[in-house]
Amino acid sequence: MTKTTLDASSAISEGDLANVRVYLDYQATTPIDPRVLSVVTTCMSNVFGNASSADHIYGDEAAELVAVARAHVAALVGATPEQVIFTSGSTESINIALQGLARLCRDRQRRPLSIAVAPIEHAAVLDTIELLKARGDAVTRPLSVNAAGQVSLDDIECACREGVDALCLMGANNEVGTIYPLREASNIARQHGVFLFCDATQSAGRIPPCVEHWHGSALSISAHKMYGPKGVGALIVPTGMRLQALFAGGNQQMGIRPGTLNVPGIVGFGEAARLRIVEMSEDEARTRGLRDDLETALKDKIPGLVVNGDSMSRLAGSLHVSIPGVPNHAVIARIRNRIAISTGAACSSGIERPSHVLQAMGLRKELLDSALRISLGKFTKSTDIDVASAEIPTAVAAARAALYGAVA
Ligand code: PLP
Repeated sequence: MTKTTLDASSAISEGDLANVRVYLDYQATTPIDPRVLSVVTTCMSNVFGNASSADHIYGDEAAELVAVARAHVAALVGATPEQVIFTSGSTESINIALQGLARLCRDRQRRPLSIAVAPIEHAAVLDTIELLKARGDAVTRPLSVNAAGQVSLDDIECACREGVDALCLMGANNEVGTIYPLREASNIARQHGVFLFCDATQSAGRIPPCVEHWHGSALSISAHKMYGPKGVGALIVPTGMRLQALFAGGNQQMGIRPGTLNVPGIVGFGEAARLRIVEMSEDEARTRGLRDDLETALKDKIPGLVVNGDSMSRLAGSLHVSIPGVPNHAVIARIRNRIAISTGAACSSGIERPSHVLQAMGLRKELLDSALRISLGKFTKSTDIDVASAEIPTAVAAARAALYGAVA
């Protein structure tokens, strides 16, 4: 069996290097931190009460653990515990927020919600907005993006001045890793009385919160992007805002998200958030160093390699590249069993359609067709970088040779 470098015992010998499996797709999902796993399994074994059971101690125990987790998650993003609504992940959080906002607008103002949104957002945001548009419940004011996938604050200001109801801006991009100017955007939105919704799935736990007060805004986060379990996330709602639930049910979580709470998942999410607060800055600095080493090695060894995204404002673990003339699938096919990198977002990898993000950035076709998303995280080791620095260029050279008959 091939080894994964996540094994705690993985002191890898030279001989082992040939058998190593390397995970470099942290923007798709992160491995669970063993300390998080431990609290999840302990909770599953020992605390089975329903956190909403107010009549006995089993319920009290579960509710106490949820309260602690809620406080950690709130602290991670600079919110208050009362603002945290636990969900099954960011997709659900985004749907509750955007569909709920559209519903409020329809009920109160009898018109569709107008949203300023850039075409580089995740499919969970764009498809939810498309659904609302198809129902006649939303209209969009597209925001422009530049070749680095960056938005323009002037354009955001313009959209807010034009009188949109809401501004939708992600914390960081899930493909190219571009970090967005949330602090400035939220100030502009606040000055114009525009509601801000932030999909913080990629930024929470990777960069410190840059909006001091989320009281007038909403954001979505997901545990599996920060070394927590899959299937649990949160929506941060403005204090006192009652968004309509997506489905009918009990009165849990102020009725915004009915259903029995996923206590072990929430406890794991809370622990993951707590660890990010303590360890984020050191982990991210280390990750940035490894990413830069890999970037340098790939640039040296792969002629023509282009790095995509905003090099001035990019997630520490993100390295998005294109290799003109070498289709990405030809590279992936050669390394897929040993090195995990991707052609794009996990929800669309395997789909033979150019990424909407790269298209919005205006990348020319040969850069679109050859795009590779490489992403590192806190379990990435320097031996992983050694393997990737050796094997990705070899795969590119082999793909070039197969296509053009000579090794470039
Ligand atoms: N938004 C962004 C930016 C993402 O990267 C993802 C997941 O890839 C999502 C939303 C959806 O998150 P979840 O998997 O928690 O539903």
